[in-house]
Amino acid sequence: MRPFKFTTTNSVASASTLALQNKQAKFLAGGTNLIDLMKEDVEHPDELIDISQLSPGIKMQAGGLWLGASAKNTETANHPLVRQHFPLLSQAILAGASAQIRNMASNGGNLLQRTRCTYFYDVAMPCNKREPGSGCGALDGINRMHAIFGWSNQCVAVYPSDMAVALLALNAKIHTDKRTIAIADFHRLPGEHPEIENLLQPGEVITGIELPNNAFAAHSAYVKVRDRHSYAFALVSVAAGLQLQGTLANFKAAAELALKDARPLKHNAFKIELGKRTIVAALEQALNA
Ligand SMILES: Cc1cc2nc3c(=O)[nH]c(=O)nc-3n(C[C@H](O)[C@H](O)[C@H](O)COP(=O)(O)OP(=O)(O)OC[C@H]3O[C@@H](n4cnc5c(N)ncnc54)[C@H](O)[C@@H]3O)c2cc1C
Ligand code: SF4
Repeated sequence: MRPFKFTTTNSVASASTLALQNKQAKFLAGGTNLIDLMKEDVEHPDELIDISQLSPGIKMQAGGLWLGASAKNTETANHPLVRQHFPLLSQAILAGASAQIRNMASNGGNLLQRTRCTYFYDVAMPCNKREPGSGCGALDGINRMHAIFGWSNQCVAVYPSDMAVALLALNAKIHTDKRTIAIADFHRLPGEHPEIENLLQPGEVITGIELPNNAFAAHSAYVKVRDRHSYAFALVSVAAGLQLQGTLANFKAAAELALKDARPLKHNAFKIELGKRTIVAALEQALNA
């Protein structure tokens, strides 16, 4: 691991200023992703700016629930307001990582965790996301875990956050020190620049996540399909929320529609049928919740 400077600060504004002063600096929250990437030499900031205490708390406010960016994943998943009003989010967080990691991981860091593509982690392999212009090891490599939607010839990686899948279904909004961004717009598809993963600008700090009130609490489910039951990232995951109005949806038709534009790679065509079945399973679970 390379040497780095560790900086503490007592406000979001000063954290942002410090990051703008040093383009090689990175914010540190729980460190469960960033420190791993530094150990693997995938990321090498020369300064870490500790923001782990700056945006704590979970509270009800007009229109919905506020989750502080520094609130831990464990606190969020187990919070009575989350469990009561947004059980889908609670389930999704608890489906990820391990209890120990969730105790450290923050909500802001979870949103910004980087892909688990093995070529990204292996610095001996080409990877446009890690080193723009070097190529994509997964495109013609082992791509069983990779994308069936939204990929480009530059990058076929998937984004790994379970929490974000639920936040998308719940129409969450991401608040930063500069603006508010709908979660549907927050992450970018790889296109020609897979190294740019979201809309954040240099120095911009996530301060919290807003969950608008919704009618899904009574009928929602998060279904994650993975190679082994615990401690693994999703092959396919579905966050389903139902607002029932007399007639029940045709779940199979919805699944066909959702997967109709899928473009599988050499090793992951199985995800299309798996995706359809997981959607139907999630909708059935939501119905019976
Ligand atoms: C073994 C293992 C298994 C895992 N399994 C899963 C899983 O199954 N599902 C899943 O969803 N996740 C999983 N994770 C990922 C885990 O959820 C993330 O590592 C964690 O959520 C990241 O949060 P953090 O606070 O530790 O982020 P950090 O590592 O501190 O930061 C991550 C990135 O976010 C930036 N950042 C952090 N906070 C802010 C902020 N407020 N504003 C701006 N930038 C910020 C940092 O600069 C850094 O670039 C796993 C992790 C490990 C190590
Ligand atoms: S899929 Fe993306 S992250 Fe993986 S090797 Fe290709 S460019 Fe890198």
